[in-house]
Amino acid sequence: MAVLRILNYPDPRLKTVAEPVTDINDPIVQQMIADMLETLVNTPHCGGLAATQLDIQNPKRIFVFYDFFEDKNSKETPTVVINPEIVNTEGEVFEQEGCMSVYPNEILAAILRPARTHMRGLDRHGKPIEFIREGYLAKNFMHEVDHLNGKLYIDHLKPLKRTMLDKKIKKVRTDHAKQKEE
Ligand SMILES: [Zn+2]
Repeated sequence: MAVLRILNYPDPRLKTVAEPVTDINDPIVQQMIADMLETLVNTPHCGGLAATQLDIQNPKRIFVFYDFFEDKNSKETPTVVINPEIVNTEGEVFEQEGCMSVYPNEILAAILRPARTHMRGLDRHGKPIEFIREGYLAKNFMHEVDHLNGKLYIDHLKPLKRTMLDKKIKKVRTDHAKQKEE
């Protein structure tokens, strides 16, 4: 297993539309899953990661996340979802969101997302799994599925807000580059 590098905006690979997994037992797919889980548990303050935001060759439609559904106080369980499909969504929430690929310590923006999401997919053994989640996890599902479609949360912003945020991101990037030089 290996901890993978998280790609940073504006890396063009963040626009990759991932291909579905066709053979769960493919050793490359299983290795990808193992590395993604290893990366998730070794990334502090990270709720989920999609294959397309990691330094992976030919990323597949896979994401990993912590499912807090059972008990908020229980130990976080890293969960794998393969070929996720949104069955339906309900309601709307307009809340702040961030992304591990878009300077999460500095950049946040409010995005409109469903309040409740019904999603299905396959687990790492190919068994069908289904989730109906609200709040943070409902948003998280949409966020990760967006990643697998080559889309970032900031792509949901209205043009004026996006232009303002892009300016802020540019400044953060310059600051980071300076810190590296020092
Ligand atoms: Zn993200």
